[in-house]
Amino acid sequence: QSQELSQVQIDYHAALQALVEDGTKMVGTGRRHTDRICRFESLCYSTEAEEFIYFHSNSSVMLPNLGSRRFQPALLDLSSVEDHNTQYFNFVELPAAALKFMPKPVFVPDVALIANRFNPDNLMHVFHDDLLPIYYTMRQFSDLDLEARLFFMEGWSEGVHFDLYKLLSNKQPLLREQLKTLGRLLCFTKSYVGLSKITTWYQYGFVQPQGPKANILVSGNEIRQFTKFMMQKLNISLEESSSEEYIVVFSRTINRLILNEAELILALAQEFQMKTITVSLEEHSFSDIVRLISNASMLVSMHGAQLVMSLFLPRGATVVELFPYAINPEHYTPYKTLATLPGMDLQYVAWQNTDREDTVTYPDRPWDQGGIAHLDKAEQERIIKSTEVPRHLCCRNPEWLFRAYQDTKVNIPSLIHVIRQTVKSKPGPKKQKWSGSLYPGKVRDAKCQASVQGTSEAKLAVSWQIPWNLKYLKVREVKYEVWIQEQGENTYMPYILSHQNHTFSENIKPFTIYLVWIRCIFNKNLLGPFADVLLCST
Ligand code: UDP
Repeated sequence: QSQELSQVQIDYHAALQALVEDGTKMVGTGRRHTDRICRFESLCYSTEAEEFIYFHSNSSVMLPNLGSRRFQPALLDLSSVEDHNTQYFNFVELPAAALKFMPKPVFVPDVALIANRFNPDNLMHVFHDDLLPIYYTMRQFSDLDLEARLFFMEGWSEGVHFDLYKLLSNKQPLLREQLKTLGRLLCFTKSYVGLSKITTWYQYGFVQPQGPKANILVSGNEIRQFTKFMMQKLNISLEESSSEEYIVVFSRTINRLILNEAELILALAQEFQMKTITVSLEEHSFSDIVRLISNASMLVSMHGAQLVMSLFLPRGATVVELFPYAINPEHYTPYKTLATLPGMDLQYVAWQNTDREDTVTYPDRPWDQGGIAHLDKAEQERIIKSTEVPRHLCCRNPEWLFRAYQDTKVNIPSLIHVIRQTVKSKPGPKKQKWSGSLYPGKVRDAKCQASVQGTSEAKLAVSWQIPWNLKYLKVREVKYEVWIQEQGENTYMPYILSHQNHTFSENIKPFTIYLVWIRCIFNKNLLGPFADVLLCST
């Protein structure tokens, strides 16, 4: 991967003249700063001021043109974490004529994706906040191809997982610090600023306690397209007919330890009659871990960032997440949410240590490793006595850190018991084909015919045709839902029907107008759209 910018020969004088005459052009998407990505031509960056610059000229474009709302609070989020006030993007404005008085610009010929990594030293954050969002931002804009260049502006050094970021494009990503070596004024010929949040599934608790995002938009299929890409780049082939089934225990070696790991491994091997192996980030290469996990039947690990590697598990595998004493698994669910995304097809099991005897605490460590010695005595005692960490905000809650960095002796019978509640027979990858769930289209040609019997009784015969896509599908169960609503009323009578026609007589009044809503349902829970409402007069 080359670090030099000028792979493409550009005519410097023409480029400079175009910049002076045309200025910057920006066209962005999104209604708010939290869902905005902007495409720029000739966005510049002063490495001395550490500011992006928008040059105004007669030809410049700025859409959206927000006026001072651009600062309330920002034009857009530079990382994929929603509305984080350390991750905002903005530019300062200058007339293009000011270029005469500025350092000579250095042009960046590559199409650039400009963004912030959120926490590049933590593997969960690397995948969830950076790699997946970058990957799908690049899929959103066709000129962000493998020849595009990533610019990370958060100001961190490469970090321990930089090799993973390098997989996303053929060009070496550049960090904010490195820009200084390129010049005093950089001008990006074409660039995109911001990251798609469409794949993120978790919010870390900056404004409310952590939990799944309110509106998750990603499913297992898109996650696996991403992992397939990563595995290709890592030269790992998916072994289709892997012979032996096995369990992977992903261990931590620095903190939050499993104290009886050997005993745990023996017990798992015996219970499930499978080879059981241990991996850790300290002792294995990333590729080796991916290779092992991508064929595993079960992944067992303490709660922690390494569990994001369940992204690479095959369909049908089981994730077993172990929680230290006093940590309620329901309150910390980044990996549960991942495993249970629609179409991930993973089984998820949480186990919690409920026995004080089996936990080892570290009150005297530094605060960021869970120490509590800096707190006053009463608070220390309260924390030590507490049996559950109350819900809290990110990121420095000492009671949470104290409990999160405990070591645990896993109670084997209790663990096997909870796994067995979910994994009845042999755990293991399902060698199954694509099993996407498809939704019905609208029902077609809906008709109704009314008949009146005397002054108080009436009937409504309603019929319709199957949705257009059904004739191409094998669907286990097809049902129809019909709502009958008297015009002007808020309530309706719902029916679930198996056939394509039905005569309604219950509660049908003569000389009344009814609205009839019909939709198709596949396999009990795949609800289609309602067809255009039918107006039926008795
Ligand atoms: N980590 C590790 N081994 C350890 C402890 C941590 O590899 O014994 C890694 C962990 O996977 C994560 C990073 O170090 O990528 C930061 O860990 P931390 O405990 O701060 O975060 P958490 O795992 O709780 O998200």
